[in-house]
Amino acid sequence: MFDDVLSRLGIKPLNSGLYAGRWMEPPGGEELFSLNPASGESIARVAGASRATCDAALASATAAFKSWRLVPPPQRGEVVRQIGNALREAKSDLGLLVTLETGKIKSEGLGEVQEMIDMCDFAVGLSRQLYGLTIASERPSHRMFEQWHPLGPSGCITAFNFPVAVWAWNAAVALVCGDPVVWKPSELTPLTAIAVQTIVNRVLEPGLGGLLNLTIGGRDIGQQLAADQRLPLISATGSTAMGRAVAATVAQRLGRTLLELGGNNGLILTESADLDLALRAVLFAAVGTAGQRCTTLRRLIVHESVADKFVKRLAAAYMSIQPGDPWEDGVLLGPLIRESAVQQFEAAVTEAQRQGGALICGGSRIKRPGFYVQPTIIAAHPDMAIVQQETFAPILYVLTYRALDEAIALHNNVPQGLSSAIFTDRFLEAEQFLSAAGSDCGIANVNIGTSGAEIGGAFGGEKETGGGREAGSDAWKAYMRRQTCTLNYGGDLPLAQGVKFDIAP
Ligand code: NAD
Repeated sequence: MFDDVLSRLGIKPLNSGLYAGRWMEPPGGEELFSLNPASGESIARVAGASRATCDAALASATAAFKSWRLVPPPQRGEVVRQIGNALREAKSDLGLLVTLETGKIKSEGLGEVQEMIDMCDFAVGLSRQLYGLTIASERPSHRMFEQWHPLGPSGCITAFNFPVAVWAWNAAVALVCGDPVVWKPSELTPLTAIAVQTIVNRVLEPGLGGLLNLTIGGRDIGQQLAADQRLPLISATGSTAMGRAVAATVAQRLGRTLLELGGNNGLILTESADLDLALRAVLFAAVGTAGQRCTTLRRLIVHESVADKFVKRLAAAYMSIQPGDPWEDGVLLGPLIRESAVQQFEAAVTEAQRQGGALICGGSRIKRPGFYVQPTIIAAHPDMAIVQQETFAPILYVLTYRALDEAIALHNNVPQGLSSAIFTDRFLEAEQFLSAAGSDCGIANVNIGTSGAEIGGAFGGEKETGGGREAGSDAWKAYMRRQTCTLNYGGDLPLAQGVKFDIAP
């Protein structure tokens, strides 16, 4: 059933995992298997990068930078426009491969490719808007301004759960900013990366092949990018543990990092909330993608007056969701990515109950091929240590509150700070949640769940989420270097702050 799709995307039984301006065969590293998490079976094999061939990808990006930085940004945007069109043509195939390799449902697989296309469109517009400032100089006959130059090749390390969209957040913007990219995707999702490389090569080859490079491998390859001086920026998406390791390596060489790490997202459900709306939002945010989004809802903080009623309805909705093959129409629950994720889910459910949590529904592995678990709700209390952690599975902890101040404090009392939401019909509550004393997250929503962000905004979070911002708004500034310029068009040399430094005549 998938053979045609794989062959149209250029996926063979054994694939090279190294593109450095050209595919390198063999790339000399460890062999990886791409698994279909809905069956546990292998889809295809990938020959990974070695240290030496990864170095070739770095050299390719470094060489490409020399000429690409001089191409006017709108012309760079034109190349990105063509990449967007190539993705449009491949959308249904690539979307299906995302579904096949990650287990996310069909509409989410397609949505992820749409996000790539949206990012290309956004970057095309951006290519004419890389604005600097004009600054008032304190000195006569002086003009002061700032301009933005390309930073250099950027390293992009991505996670399994958004195997292609996060690359597009980085690559589309980096390219218009003048930066080639070396991409190290998750070793769990190598085929989607190879397919994307094949699609962009239709636009870039020959001539611009060195702009987008691919090096597939594990942590060692990620660390190789992090340690390499030729990459002034490392943009890394994944767990907080990965972020700490990558940040430490990049800091050793005083490079720049853009970190998009784990979340532990909360939603405050107030007394006045529209419960029908909230039910749909909670369901998508907590169960969608089988709980494997960085923005997945993990903590429901509900007013005690509506808690019983709402949680009963929510549990009924949870139990009506049937697992299925994620590529089938109408299926809402796909698998987790691997057996190890199922084990982490089971361990978290056991531990939550040991810490005093009460299982409301779910809690078990689903008996069918692949890595399926039941969406799970656990009644929790605030001092349960496990509520502080991100378990990358569909487990929702329910906490109750009396006063909004208490709910906001509870909400902010976790180490992560990615996405947050409040459901309320009261203006004052919404404003309090969005105020400086409200949610401490990078994303704060009113009457919208925690997941499913649009690309136009800057995406990212605070605290252990890493502080990075990607995609829209002014996130492009991370990919460029700022230069402050002052020109003197007078005949005198006045010094700033009135300092005198005149040689006696
Ligand atoms: P992961 O941390 O296991 O791996 C992510 C990437 O980092 C992979 O490419 C991996 O090979 C690499 N890596 C891991 N350890 C490394 C190390 N020590 N040095 C260099 N590279 C290393 O994460 P995952 O399981 O693929 O993804 C799930 C995690 O990603 C969750 O925590 C989720 O919240 C987070 N995530 C965050 C965002 C965001 O935008 N904030 C988006 C998607 C996923």
